[in-house]
Amino acid sequence: MFLAQEIIRKKRDGLTLSDDELRFFVNGIRDNTVSEGQIAALAMSIFFRDMTMPERVSLTMAMRDSGTVLDWKSLHLNGPLVDKHSTGGVGDVTSLMLGPMVAACGGYVPMISGRGLGHTGGTLDKLEAIPGFDIFPDDARFRQIIRDVGVAIIGQTSSLAPADKRFYATRDITATVDSIPLITASILAKKLAEGLDALVMDVKVGSGAFMPTYALSEQLAEAIVGVANGAGVRTTALLTDMNQVLASSAGNAVEVREAVQFLTGEYRNPRLLEVTLALCADMLVSGNLAADETQARMKLQAALDSGKAAETFGRMVAAQKGPADFVERYAHYLPVAPFSKAVYADRAGFVAQMDTRALGMAIVAMGGGRRQASDTIDYSVGFSDMARLGESVDGQRPLAVIHAQDEARWQAAASALKASIDIDDAAPDETPVVYRRISG
Ligand code: URA
Repeated sequence: MFLAQEIIRKKRDGLTLSDDELRFFVNGIRDNTVSEGQIAALAMSIFFRDMTMPERVSLTMAMRDSGTVLDWKSLHLNGPLVDKHSTGGVGDVTSLMLGPMVAACGGYVPMISGRGLGHTGGTLDKLEAIPGFDIFPDDARFRQIIRDVGVAIIGQTSSLAPADKRFYATRDITATVDSIPLITASILAKKLAEGLDALVMDVKVGSGAFMPTYALSEQLAEAIVGVANGAGVRTTALLTDMNQVLASSAGNAVEVREAVQFLTGEYRNPRLLEVTLALCADMLVSGNLAADETQARMKLQAALDSGKAAETFGRMVAAQKGPADFVERYAHYLPVAPFSKAVYADRAGFVAQMDTRALGMAIVAMGGGRRQASDTIDYSVGFSDMARLGESVDGQRPLAVIHAQDEARWQAAASALKASIDIDDAAPDETPVVYRRISG
């Protein structure tokens, strides 16, 4: 039997907590037997004192075990359970292609995703732009879709890592969100509850990233790889660029459109293709579905070229109650904003820099994201045909096409977009798509 205040005292004094102590505290968070003040005090102690790697692993596993951990054994699947998690970005529609691509190569992807947060878009919000799409199938149905299709993308239920919800809510109001051990445990507790064999983490770097600097993104990636491997799940991380909108569109319906066009080969933004292939390749290699990156990329390209990845996406949509012919008739089903028009830069030149966070907030301002949890989303609004860094823009080549509800909101978005993009006489140096790969 432990006392919460003694556990807090130990961490406050810089001592190391045992696995049993961390489990006691985390179960107390879940069961409401430790108070909000005690959670805040422990969070602040961890913020200042940090945690050793064994402590980080114990905290993460205790949070994972605070609820249900999915167990897939009874399905006798003939491939590995693999998933990806991203720290979030703008125009990052990767999950919608990655899940079906990996499933088409023999993996099983039980993806539990989130909604948009702040300036970043959310996979669940994007999928809900598809009429009828059900992000909360019951457990039996979720398992059936995984077995039959190989991929399902669903929302988090209250039974998964429940301690995280209360822990995060307290961190949010006590300036203790930005602690690497706490972020690591929070992210991984939820992902590891999926019962995975392998995981790839996409940690974003740049003006639209969750972590404010390259060095902190790198520290988070290293922490996640260390803890997840310590918890027995083969995990790698990629540091990928978020100094510009990743896809050519950003919003909900417009990103779903781009995802379908990507899968069918109608249009593939090269940077989006590279990030998606790099993440998928790590999933195939970690899941023992490919011997190395070269073989993984060949398999993935074949899944795209044969149409199998697009077909898998279509089957997932249908299985989750979306239209059965969504891939063929996406233009018919996706909502379209009433006022769509191109916006041009005030002068000709090269796109030199983007404030990606501000671009994300411009979409939220148009109604494409939430300011508070209870807000409803306008799925139709956003940007498409985005110019990329280094591209030349002029009176012919717009910065983007803005999709808005009316002219006034279009004007506001156009001002925000122009203010967020710097134009220069010289093209900037090209930024890498993937900065670094971190393996266990
Ligand atoms: N995302 C999470 O899920 N948890 C954190 O602590 C930070 C980002």
